[in-house]
Parts: sequence; structure tokens; C-alpha cells
Amino acid sequence: MERVDFLVIGAGIAGLSAAIRLAAVGKVLVVTKEELAESNTAYAQGGIAVAMGGDEDVALHLKDTMAAGDGLVNREAAAVLVEQGPRRVEELLEWGTGFDRENGELMRTREGAHSRSRILHANGDATGREIAVSLLRHARAIPAIELMEWTTSVDLLVEDGRVVGATLLDGEGGLRVVRARAVLLASGGAGQVYSDTTNPAVATGDGIAMAYRAGAAVSDMEFYQFHPTAFAMKGAPRFLLSEALRGEGAYLVNAKGERFMERYHPLLELAPRDVVARAITMEGIDGPVYLDMRHVQKDLKARFPGISAFLAKYRLELGRDLIPVRPAAHYLMGGVKTDVHGRTSLPGLYAAGEAACTGVHGANRLASNSLLEGLVFGALVAETMIAESRDQGSGIRDQGSASSPGSVTSEAAIEKWIKELREMMWKDAGLLRDVAGLERAKRGWMTLARTIPRGLSRRAVEARNLHVVAGLIIESALGRKESRGAHFRNDFPQHGKVAKHSVMERGKLSFVA
Ligand SMILES: Cc1cc2nc3c(=O)[nH]c(=O)nc-3n(C[C@H](O)[C@H](O)[C@H](O)COP(=O)(O)OP(=O)(O)OC[C@H]3O[C@@H](n4cnc5c(N)ncnc54)[C@H](O)[C@@H]3O)c2cc1C
Repeated sequence: MERVDFLVIGAGIAGLSAAIRLAAVGKVLVVTKEELAESNTAYAQGGIAVAMGGDEDVALHLKDTMAAGDGLVNREAAAVLVEQGPRRVEELLEWGTGFDRENGELMRTREGAHSRSRILHANGDATGREIAVSLLRHARAIPAIELMEWTTSVDLLVEDGRVVGATLLDGEGGLRVVRARAVLLASGGAGQVYSDTTNPAVATGDGIAMAYRAGAAVSDMEFYQFHPTAFAMKGAPRFLLSEALRGEGAYLVNAKGERFMERYHPLLELAPRDVVARAITMEGIDGPVYLDMRHVQKDLKARFPGISAFLAKYRLELGRDLIPVRPAAHYLMGGVKTDVHGRTSLPGLYAAGEAACTGVHGANRLASNSLLEGLVFGALVAETMIAESRDQGSGIRDQGSASSPGSVTSEAAIEKWIKELREMMWKDAGLLRDVAGLERAKRGWMTLARTIPRGLSRRAVEARNLHVVAGLIIESALGRKESRGAHFRNDFPQHGKVAKHSVMERGKLSFVA
């Protein structure tokens, strides 16, 4: 058993932003499932939204965020996000983050549903990697931070209703117990619950599943944002083709070569993501849909070096070729329910970033607001943890429900089981939902429960977590008998009368205003 002051699960933007501050008052252990640089953060392309132009700019950023969230944004949290954003981004600049500049001035681009050009980017389309590298450089220089790679948190330790640590599985398969004054879940999203996703392999919703098993409230799990334009070629990865391409003028065209967005939304290609994703799905019934930049007069290779290099592998070029696209699961608006200070419903447990549901995104995230959320709420939650944490006793009562006993499932059988779950989720609880599909998903989920993978390998742990996350999505989506934001029900295409958040806690679903 080890003892630290603060345990941070996840080394993306939220975890590192918190760890850097927590280290001012105690020893911080940051764990991450793979290499430090492997997180959703590192894959972020388009940029980070921030209103650095004074009060009016901040007010407009808030207005855009509220509008994108379709009636469910927590105004207080969103105000914190946009107001504290500029200060936190200034800090990133001080720590050496190299956002792109022109004539010494920061460059800003525009993305869907933003009323202004306010997205900072780095190395063209590699913003996340640049931020991750500069945060890691800063964190590595702080002796009170220990960064532990290839370590998977398995379950939270709960004593007398308070979270006091976690069990961790190391790279060699050894289990260790770490106690802490406070635990932060900064474990990111859960895109891997769907067969088609832009998210890397680490995004299996572990933090959400761990928190739920320990009794924490989880909110708005039915709101999964499907990115409209992931690369769609047989055998190729679902690589993200950033919204910034449309920000720079890309059209969407169908198999007949027609631009079609005017039939769906007045903002055309820059309509909210859910509208664009559904439009592509509808148009895609008759054949592939493409991004078309043949009319854009810009050096696209210089502006989008990462995307251009990826496309070159498939002999495609922005500005010369039509690029095939299809939606893919991208960003989870829901997560572990927190207040505006990052507190969950369990004492001792905090959450920030994509694993958390602060309500800043409501039913739909405004593009490029998530890096900002991780940065701002990572810093904020650290202040809360410092103020509230206290020393823990030494007893251990491991919840341990993910460390299920019994015979061990083979790795091949686990992979097969996970594939079945992900395909079922894509088909029946994906972009377009209805009661028949969701009930089918629920039955499939119960059938899969009978063969839930056993054992203590990382993949077995992930399989069980994906099962929890899938159940939370299906249950919340069935319960929400309306369409709102990223949640679209063919059988309930309209908004309900009152905008409410879904909350799942200890097996019970409720809706609260
Ligand atoms: C392809 C892509 C492009 C994107 N582009 C943008 C963009 O341009 N702008 C924007 O704002 N957002 C973008 N996003 C979203 C954004 O990147 C994420 O929402 C954000 O980075 C999440 O940060 P985080 O710190 O919460 O989690 P992450 O960055 O995902 O970090 C999670 C960390 O938790 C660790 N972890 C997970 N489970 C465990 C476990 N059981 N034990 C130990 N460690 C664990 C992971 O290893 C990782 O270190 C994009 C996402 C993707 C996938």
C-alpha cells in the first residue's frame, strides 16, 4: 500500500492542469493507462476556444456556448469556463505553448456555431499535442509530481462513504493500493463504447464506470457527440477531419456532387455538429458524402499538415480531391456529475475534463470548448481539493467490483465480447435512436452481462467498464423521450416541454431541471 496526498487518474489536459496546482501543497501521483502522451488531449486538432478580446468577446462566447447546449447548459459553469479561460490560456503561453502566430499576433480560426473567430491552434492542426507537451514539460519539472505510465486504475476505495484511494493495475499485471487525501478522476471520455470513434484506445470510460460502481451520481450520459466528418474509407482508421476544414471553407457534397447543407440548416456547413452529423447520415444513405475544398485558395498543406500527411497515405489531397467522410462517436457531454467546483456526489472524489459532467456543454458541446474545459476546471478542482482534503486513516475496504473473481476470460474472447458490445451500441444506441433500437440494445446488454469478461487484465477491466458505460447510455437514452442536442429520437423528434438533466445513481434514473 502506498500513500500520497493526491491521486490524479489521467494525464490529459484536465489531470495535468490539476496536478500542477496540487503539487504546491503535497505529493501528487498521476497515473495513465499508456504512455503519457496518449490521451484524447494529444489528438485534439482544431484548437482551443477562448475569448481573449475583452468583456464583449467573453459575453459572446457564453452566448454561443449556451446556444449550442440546447437548453441544458449550466449557466454558472459556462460563465466560469469563458471568464477564466483567457487567464488559463495566458498561463499556457507562459509555460511555452506555441500557438500559431502571424506577424507576432496569435492566429484565430472559426468553427461551427461560433459567432467569432476565437479558436487558437498550434502547428496547424496539432493543437492538443502541443498543449500536452508543454503541460508535461511543466509537470515533469515539479518534484512533488510523480507521473506513472502504463498503470490502469481498477476501482475506488471507499470507507464510510468517503473515497480514500484506488486500486491500480501496473504494466506487469500487479495490483497495488494507493491511499490519498483526495482523488481526481480526469480519465477522459468513452468513445470506445462505439464501433466507430475518433477516440484512441484509452477512452473506455473507466473513471465514469468506477465512480458509478462506487455510488457516485452520473449525469447526461445519453448526450454523445458524433463528429460529422471522420475519414470514411474501408480499412482506414476513423481519423478526424477537423471542423476547422469547414471553418476554412470546405463544402459538404453528396454522391451527386451537390452541396446539401442548405436543406438542413441556415448556417450550412458550420451548423451545430449534431445537425451536420444527421444530415450526412441522411445523405449518406444513397452513397458516400465528401468534403470538398477544391475551391479554397489557400496553402492547405501548410494550414493542415497533420491531416494532409494522413490523407497522403491514401493518395488523397485537400484542395485536389473529394475526401470521403462519415460521422463517428467523438465527445461525451455527460459524465460523473459535479458541481461548479468539481465535487462529485461522493466526499473525497472529484472529477474534471471529459470524464466529468459540469453542465458546461449541456446537450451539445460547442466546438473546441473541451480543451478549455479541461484546462479551466482542472485548475479549479485543484483549489477545491486543496481546501477540502484531509488525512485518511489506514484501514482498507476495497470495493473491488471490477476486479471480479472467478475464472479468467481469454484475451481473444474479451476482444470478441468488446467488439459485439461496440457494434451493438453503434447500431442501436448511436446517432439516430428509437424505442425499438434502444430496447434491442438493452436486451443485448443484458445478454452480454451473462458472459462479462473475468480476470484482472487491463482489457478485462476495460470490458467491464465499457459495459457499465453502455448501460448508462442505453438507460438514459431510453428515458429521454425527446430529441435534444446530440440525442436524437426518431420516435420523439421534438423537444420536451422542460429541459432536464438525466441522473443515474445506484441503478435509478431520474430527470432534474
Ligand atoms: C481526434 C480528436 C480531436 C479533438 N479535437 C478537439 C479540438 O480541436 N478542440 C477541443 O477542445 N477538443 C477536441 N477534442 C476533445 C478533447 O481532446 C478532449 O475532450 C479533451 O482533451 C479531454 O481531456 P481530458 O483531460 O478530460 O481527458 P484525456 O485527454 O482523454 O485524458 C485521459 C487520461 O486518462 C487516462 N486514463 C483513462 N482511463 C484510465 C484508467 N483506468 N487508469 C489510468 N489512467 C486512465 C488516459 O490514459 C489519459 O491519460 C478532440 C478529441 C479527439 C479524440
